[in-house]
Amino acid sequence: MSHRQEFFRLLGLPSTDSLAIEIDRAEGVYLYSMDGKKYLDLCSGVSVSNLGHNNPRIIKAIEAQIHKYLHLMVYGELIQSPQVELAKKLTDVLPSSLNSVYFVNSGSEANEGALKLAKRYTGRTEIIAFKNAYHGSTQGVLSVLGNENMKRAFRPLIPDIRFLEFNNIDQLEQITEKTAGVIVEPVQAEAGVILPENDFLKHLRKRCNQTGALLIFDEVQTGLGRTGELFAFQRYDVVPDILTLAKAFGGGMPIGAFIADKKIMDSLKYNPPLGHITTFGGHPVSAAAALESLNIITETEIYKEAQHKGEIFKERLQNNPKVKNIHGIGLLWAVELEDEKQAARFINIAKEKTFLITDRFLFKPNAFRIGPPLNISFSEIQDAIQRIEQTLDLL
Ligand code: PMP
Repeated sequence: MSHRQEFFRLLGLPSTDSLAIEIDRAEGVYLYSMDGKKYLDLCSGVSVSNLGHNNPRIIKAIEAQIHKYLHLMVYGELIQSPQVELAKKLTDVLPSSLNSVYFVNSGSEANEGALKLAKRYTGRTEIIAFKNAYHGSTQGVLSVLGNENMKRAFRPLIPDIRFLEFNNIDQLEQITEKTAGVIVEPVQAEAGVILPENDFLKHLRKRCNQTGALLIFDEVQTGLGRTGELFAFQRYDVVPDILTLAKAFGGGMPIGAFIADKKIMDSLKYNPPLGHITTFGGHPVSAAAALESLNIITETEIYKEAQHKGEIFKERLQNNPKVKNIHGIGLLWAVELEDEKQAARFINIAKEKTFLITDRFLFKPNAFRIGPPLNISFSEIQDAIQRIEQTLDLL
């Protein structure tokens, strides 16, 4: 039986429309299939491979660590230098109030930890979230997912959660002294790259200050340069109380983190202790990869080119008659087509005929995604645009 057949027979899959290309290797912005095709990656594994696939410096850091040790003990017991050095580097590049890092495995777990921390620190129960927000797939963060369709089948979920409209400043009054935390993506990614408008995040910060609710920024997708700054919150000049990271943070390895001030973070230690525990959180190999990835990003400041690179895509595609709308930030863009069916056709033709890997957004079904590695070169951008235009012609 072929791997393809076994993939469908043996793996639990989340949907019936997997891309199902069998990959041999990946390098830079390209994925190479077993049958010899060279695919250009417009997704970066959904905002993960910001420094390209198989980045040689990250591979070297992983190799150095695997010869020292793999897993040693559950998180938070032994002193493991990759974790300590990563926390040092990360807090060095963050504002002084984000000075304590709790390592976990994924974006979902980072947001779980952040929500638990907000409840523990404030002693309150209510959580505010936003419509069309995506924060992960475990039941806790599914509870703050702003789309009823994806949640309905799993109810009952966590109570005492209220949903507001992103960018609706008037509704911020609904944040009160009862609110433990407000979780928000500073740029709503899966909603189809929706940007905050009219100082929305500043108003949100102000309301949280007034009420004592902790402000949680989910930068799982926007962090590590995707929006043109190291973190999206820097673009909008608003510092959250808790920041969550994952995806690109690990440079291709699985790791997440929630970061807060130490006086907030320490509330997970007491009454009861073990407020959040995790076996593999901050795995040393992942931490070594994350550290090298952060070193590369801060040394090269590759994110500073993201906006310009993104605009090249926009300039060329905005006048294409098949493109109804194109919007985004940095190197994360949503290209809206006629309807959901046409977007699905685009993704399929891109895979079959022009060898582009792209994906849809969870809550913007008529769009496809442009989110290549940040180190995509200018000639690779031209290659990508040509393939996108050819695909549009074939629709
Ligand atoms: N938050 C955001 C903004 C995300 O985009 C995602 C993943 N798409 C997550 C959280 C969940 O991350 P993970 O899949 O690592 O649990």
